[in-house]
Amino acid sequence: MKVYKFGGASVRDAAGIRNLANIVSHEKDNLVIVVSALGKTTNALEKVLKAWISGAGNYFTILDEIYTGHLSVITDLFGENSETRGKIDVSFAILRECFLTSPKEDYDFEYDQVVSYGEIWSTIIVAEYLKKNFKDVEWCDLRETLLTDDRFRDANVLWSESAKRVQSIFDFKKKRIYVTQGFIGGTVAGHTTTLGREGSDYTAAILANMLDAESVVVWKDVPGILNADPKWFPDAHKLDEISYKEAVEMSFSGAKVIHPKTIKPLHNKNIPLYVRSFLTPEENGTVIKADITLRKIEPVFIKKEDQILISILPRDFSFVMGDNLSRIFHSFITHGIKVNLVEASAVSIDVCVDDERTKVDILIDDLKTEFSAVYNENVEMLTIRHYTPDALVLITKGREILLEQKTRSTVRFVVRKEHS
Ligand code: ASP
Ligand code: MG
Repeated sequence: MKVYKFGGASVRDAAGIRNLANIVSHEKDNLVIVVSALGKTTNALEKVLKAWISGAGNYFTILDEIYTGHLSVITDLFGENSETRGKIDVSFAILRECFLTSPKEDYDFEYDQVVSYGEIWSTIIVAEYLKKNFKDVEWCDLRETLLTDDRFRDANVLWSESAKRVQSIFDFKKKRIYVTQGFIGGTVAGHTTTLGREGSDYTAAILANMLDAESVVVWKDVPGILNADPKWFPDAHKLDEISYKEAVEMSFSGAKVIHPKTIKPLHNKNIPLYVRSFLTPEENGTVIKADITLRKIEPVFIKKEDQILISILPRDFSFVMGDNLSRIFHSFITHGIKVNLVEASAVSIDVCVDDERTKVDILIDDLKTEFSAVYNENVEMLTIRHYTPDALVLITKGREILLEQKTRSTVRFVVRKEHS
């Protein structure tokens, strides 16, 4: 069997869903199809949530806009008054009902209960449409199948129990095609969780691992994985194949091609991942797999924007390595701050993290009795994999470099953001 993953851009309208069905029609193997929320629904649901929590009355209006968007897709695909419309109406009614109560204190909990609806709606629509076109199609609710802990908005999969459920639910003796949600799961207590923004790629990889898939195909609006963002480097070009290690390093450094957690479950079972374009499905895209012997390793450029560079110094001038190091990193983990780069000297340590100011302020406050901390905002992290002298010049020309880190294969610069 194979796992196909379709992101929001691929199902942003009725034409996108028809195109999805056309792509599926060329696949004769058994399939699990993982679908994200339609278009920008997740962002819109985040707005609804914020408006509801802050007490702003306009959340109904935003929710109505989301409903209208979904309804127009449904009407286009199924005509007026379809069964699909009935299902979506019920689901919206349940969500509207939730908004009549007051939000709980726990923002992350409420986030998952609300924002997860995007994937429920999209998968109902896609599954119903595929049922019209193919035999043997089934919708699956991952909230009951993919069990996670209760770290809301960044949930961890409970691997062995989920694998059991996944293997029994996705039963290809019963159906050939299963449609299910990316991004979401559920706790044992029955609460919905999410795996982090853009987490549908990760879901596809998890299911592929548990079902021993032959391959995963992520259908995107780009021809594959490029060696740079074309908005940054106009002559960026597609890489035909890269190794798991390269892919993980690229996404960790900030390449937005695939969710960073996606590779591990695939690597562990040696399952190749294809990144292909839903706009040109006849083309091969990029394959990520084990042990690529690259004929020529070319530079790959990655930019991670919106970073903060924090410098932490023990107040008593003790060495930073050893006990101080574990104390500092324990604090990063406790406050849910992901570390993108570390550089240590004798009595200070520099850490580059995503610009999430509230979390960083709490961290600094937590460390303040033992450590002093200063930070630079408005910085970016630039990475070149397989750098060359020319590549170094190209990337740093005219930039103010705050930190530079070099290994044999990779160079990283933390630079001040350019004024636009
Ligand atoms: N819909 C979710 C998001 O936009 C998950 C995903 O698309 O992967 O973050
Ligand atoms: Mg999305």
